[in-house]
Amino acid sequence: MIPFELAEPRSLKEAISLLDGADETVRPIAGGTALMLMMKAGVFHPTRLIALRYVAGANAIELAGDKTLRLGALATLGALERTKGLRDAFPVIAQTLRTLSNVRVRNVATIGGNLAHADPHMDLPPVLAALGAQVTVAGPNCERTVAVENLFAGYYETVLARNELIAQVSVPPLGSKRAAYVKVTTRSADDWPALGVAVVIDAEGRNVRRADVFVSAATEKPTRLKAAEAALRGAEADETNLKRAGEAAASEVETMADPQGSASYKKELVRVFVARAVRKALGLGDAQGRAG
Ligand SMILES: Cc1cc2nc3c(=O)[nH]c(=O)nc-3n(C[C@H](O)[C@H](O)[C@H](O)COP(=O)(O)OP(=O)(O)OC[C@H]3O[C@@H](n4cnc5c(N)ncnc54)[C@H](O)[C@@H]3O)c2cc1C
Repeated sequence: MIPFELAEPRSLKEAISLLDGADETVRPIAGGTALMLMMKAGVFHPTRLIALRYVAGANAIELAGDKTLRLGALATLGALERTKGLRDAFPVIAQTLRTLSNVRVRNVATIGGNLAHADPHMDLPPVLAALGAQVTVAGPNCERTVAVENLFAGYYETVLARNELIAQVSVPPLGSKRAAYVKVTTRSADDWPALGVAVVIDAEGRNVRRADVFVSAATEKPTRLKAAEAALRGAEADETNLKRAGEAAASEVETMADPQGSASYKKELVRVFVARAVRKALGLGDAQGRAG
């Protein structure tokens, strides 16, 4: 391995001052589960890594009284999974974490790294986007807020500047809405998905007032499915309307091929699994959201 500098700042301000807006070989490192793989594979050669793990207070997790969830960027996925009250406030996050990789990775991987890496196969980004989560981005001169939905610019790309860091993630209360994430894996259950579909539904019984529908893994970044949302808005979640939503989703989505499946296979998955995600959120069909 080519030698590089390792900086260990104690504050967010110091960490940002060590970044270099013009040099892509200077990078923050959090859990290192993604970055170290890139280094081992020889696709990334750093000149300086800024280890974030000693940044004071950056791993805090707060589930507030109103059920807003605030996560410091360095909070690990394992710590989030073990957060008291998470299962009641955000069952969809608790369920998603259970099949995200394995406990060894979750104990090290951080929420900031999970979002900043922008791998379209990640499970949490579509869930957080559908939940309306926002990230606080800190730079040399100011902070800004970016909706998770708008964080991703493309395949492994975010809108973050090289001298900016994700500082916090905030998830608004789910309230009476219901949510589900369905992950389609072609090998083991905790494998990388061939498709991920996250839905958050505001409904009275089966009558949908609003649906937020995001697809990932089949697309180059987590993507809102607007035509599927329009098909569901104001509709009863019966089999005819769910089929219509699946057809709308498959027509609008631009899928990509990868080792988990071809583009046409993934389009078929979208057609079927948008309906399953809605059924799962509304407690219709079986536990996987298959029609009863
Ligand atoms: C064996 C294995 C299996 C996996 N399976 C799954 C899976 O099934 N589902 C899934 O969703 N994920 C899976 N993952 C991916 C895992 O979730 C990510 O690797 C992890 O979330 C990245 O977080 P990290 O803290 O380790 O990031 P790092 O590796 O430290 O960093 C990743 C990227 O984010 C940048 N970065 C880190 N923190 C910040 C910050 N605060 N601000 C700005 N940029 C930052 C780094 O510079 C780097 O570019 C798997 C990983 C492994 C190793």
